Parts: sequence; C-alpha cells; structure tokens
Amino acid sequence: MTSTPSFEKDLLITIDGPAGAGKTTVSRMLAARLGYTYVDTGALYRGVAVAVQRAGIAPDDDAALEKLGREIELRFKIFDDQPRLLLNNVDITDEIRDPEITMLASAVSARPVVRSCLLGLQRALGRRKAAVFEGRDMGTVVFPDADVKFYLDADPKARVQRRYNELAPQKNIALADIEKDMCQRDRNDSNRQAAPLKPAPDAIFVDSTHMSAEQVVASMEQHIARAG
Ligand code: C5P
Repeated sequence: MTSTPSFEKDLLITIDGPAGAGKTTVSRMLAARLGYTYVDTGALYRGVAVAVQRAGIAPDDDAALEKLGREIELRFKIFDDQPRLLLNNVDITDEIRDPEITMLASAVSARPVVRSCLLGLQRALGRRKAAVFEGRDMGTVVFPDADVKFYLDADPKARVQRRYNELAPQKNIALADIEKDMCQRDRNDSNRQAAPLKPAPDAIFVDSTHMSAEQVVASMEQHIARAG
C-alpha cells in the first residue's frame, strides 16, 4: 500500500454489514492507516450480553434490562495498542467472543431499551470524529450524518469460512455450528424492528467475497479521498 493519506478535516467513517464480512479486520486496518480511533460497537452489545448473563436476566425482560443499563459501565481502554473492553472496570475482552455471548448479544440487541442505552455512549465516542465505527446501524441510526458510510458484505459461504478460520483454531468449533449461528444472527439482526441491519441509502456498497482485506481498504481509501 502507498503512503498514509491525510485529509483536511477529521472524518467520521462508518462500516456496517453482517457477521463475517470482514468489518473488524478492515475497520482496524483503515483506522490505523488514517491514524483514527477504531470503535467496535458490536463489542458494546457483547458487553451488555455478559452483564445480562451474569445478572441472570431474561433477554426479553425489558424492565430488568433497562435497570441493568443504568447500573453498568462499559468503556474501552487501549492496552498494548489494542482496545480492551471493561465492564465495571473488569476486562471482559476475551469473554465477549464466546459463542454463547455472541448469540445472547444478538438477542439483547433487538431490545429497544438496550439500543437506546448504548446510543449516547456511541455518539459520545464519535463526538471528536477522526474515527472508524463498525456495527450494524452506524450509518442508519447512530451516525446518520457520517462523512463516509460503507456497507461491507460478502457471500454467506465466504463469511462462514472466514469466521471458521478465525475461531476454530482457538475454540475447536465445527463449521456447521458456525454456519447455524451465523444464519440465526443474520435473521435476528436483519428482521428486528429496532435498527435492523441494512445499508444506509447513502452507503457505499462493498462486496468483499473475492477481495483481500488490503484490497477492500485500498478501495475504501479511494472513496474517502473524494470525501476528504
Ligand atoms: O459485530 P459483532 O458480530 O461483534 O456484533 C455482535 C452482535 O451485536 C450482532 O450480531 C448484533 O446483534 C449486535 N450489534 C448491533 N448493532 C451494532 C453492532 C452489533 O445490533 N451496531
């Protein structure tokens, strides 16, 4: 790749899309290239899921979810150049990747009480711009005025395979289980009433099925250069 691009103003960039499309890899790389902050909003929903699981709350108990949302503190802390997620000051970065937490995050994220509880936090993190936010509703709900919006997608088979390559070495998970969980999450995230996964009308659509992460980032940089 070529030299680090620089723009006259600090931009707020959003990357939405389904699981396994490559959002995390690409968002991290892009943020590093631009010298921007990277914010993984899925981690926040996963953090809520950890809190819900620990408190033994049913994922559809809105009153309990709202109370929990007022009581917990989620924040990111950079450690060794990597963002770590803290729940009430305790590092839960590794725990949030458990398959059970992944599915619970998908369930609780459909509850409007949970979404509104995280809305203010996400907007506060984006106040100074110079950031790349990845999630499901960044361009549609959280930052409708973002400077550049991307919707990153890929063929479902490619998404399952990527997730398998990421998870299987550490967690010994079968491809079929990953496929089942991913289909379920796709359905939950796309069909929910509150902030469903969909491209913003002004999002730039990128299909990463046959592209490397480097190629996706290079293509995004070209779009961003036009906006900066
Ligand atoms: O991005 P990640 O797969 O870590 O997100 C976990 C879950 O959190 C998603 O399946 C989705 O249900 C939820 N989520 C969301 N809105 C976001 C980010 C994630 O609903 N902005």
